[in-house]
Amino acid sequence: MDFQAEYDVIVAGGGVAGAAAALEAARSGMSVALVEKTVLLGGLATTGLVLVYLPLCDGNGRQVTFGIAEELLHLSLRYGPGNIPAGWRSGRQLDEPGRYRVVFNPASFVLALDEALEEAGVELWLDTLMACPVLDGGRVAGLEVENKGGRGLLRARCIVDATGDADVAYRAGAPCQTGRNWLSLWVLEVDGSAETPAGALPKMTWVGANAHGGGQPADIPRLTGVEPRDATEFVLAGRRLLRHRYRDLYASGAADRETLFPAALPAMAQFRTTRRIVSRDGLRPGQDGRAREASIGLMGDWRKAGPVWEIPYGALLPQRVDGLLVAGRCLDAEGDAWDVARVIPPAALSGQAAGAAAALAVRAGVSPQAVDAGPLQAHLRDRGVRLTLGEVGL
Ligand SMILES: Cc1cc2nc3c(=O)[nH]c(=O)nc-3n(C[C@H](O)[C@H](O)[C@H](O)COP(=O)(O)OP(=O)(O)OC[C@H]3O[C@@H](n4cnc5c(N)ncnc54)[C@H](O)[C@@H]3O)c2cc1C
Repeated sequence: MDFQAEYDVIVAGGGVAGAAAALEAARSGMSVALVEKTVLLGGLATTGLVLVYLPLCDGNGRQVTFGIAEELLHLSLRYGPGNIPAGWRSGRQLDEPGRYRVVFNPASFVLALDEALEEAGVELWLDTLMACPVLDGGRVAGLEVENKGGRGLLRARCIVDATGDADVAYRAGAPCQTGRNWLSLWVLEVDGSAETPAGALPKMTWVGANAHGGGQPADIPRLTGVEPRDATEFVLAGRRLLRHRYRDLYASGAADRETLFPAALPAMAQFRTTRRIVSRDGLRPGQDGRAREASIGLMGDWRKAGPVWEIPYGALLPQRVDGLLVAGRCLDAEGDAWDVARVIPPAALSGQAAGAAAALAVRAGVSPQAVDAGPLQAHLRDRGVRLTLGEVGL
């Protein structure tokens, strides 16, 4: 090995889930490393230009998601522009029909994430790829990583897989499932034909399919995102569509290349559902409105008002592998439940729970599978997270 280091907790992947996990573990007194293959924190939310922080509420004026998920929503606006929607600036359970969501500037969110993680004392390893887990029997004892310094070994007493693709869990031998993805490409655009007010966000435009598959080009297969050629084929197909859009607009005279052109492209493939773990207690379609054993918090349904889900701790625990938790869009959620759970607020919430559970596991010298729900829930409640439907009056 070219280099080595040791921590209490390592988080693989610096998207919103990984950032939340690292923040919570560090604030709980752990030495924490966060390994991120790009040089930007935020994952799909920033590198992927997904600039809508979906709602923390149920669509009926009731906030349901709390804790670091709410803190990150505020941080996404810290370096401008934009504001918290008027009805949500103070207090809870407002008679507020508009949802508690914001549109943010990805670059500003990165600045605020750097700041928060540095303040918490997290050791960042940017431009560093998690190459493979290191196993000690059935326990993940560390990660082999690659960067310009060569190949290194980072050891930890507990590891959080927040890669979005369950890379650590899968390579350690945990059972996983894959999803199928519609082709989408969200980009930022300069549109000089529109009067742009001061403080306006860059204009977001997209080509390809919407989140439900409408507009999917007939000749493009639905890729899982985890096969060797998938990312390449997906992003090249998206950029081909984008070129067609500009060519058509310029040829028809609807726009010209001096006023309408792309400003920024996502630097990661915009796959929604790639690989997730299969746990003993995952989220399944139709389980909204139900009490779950060991809930770690609540998520609303970004698509419609009403449904609220308790997220069970078990959905973060891979089978057959010890010493490992999973957070974000690769936690165990199936079908419709995956569509609800894969977005920014549940990713941050599950990250916070994974960070808290990792800290409890390290303190007790046990695997995350052996962490008792009682102390974990007490820890999260102390942090202001509301865990059950009853706690938000449902
Ligand atoms: C087209 C599209 C539109 C969307 N729209 C919205 C929306 O409007 N609002 C919303 O809330 N959500 C939306 N989502 C979903 C949302 O953006 C993500 O699902 C969410 O941000 C997931 O966060 P995460 O931290 O779990 O994963 P990711 O954001 O995928 O983060 C994973 C991180 O891990 C890193 N990583 C991966 N593998 C490795 C490795 N081997 N070594 C080191 N680092 C690694 C990645 O670089 C990345 O930074 C959308 C998604 C897509 C694709």
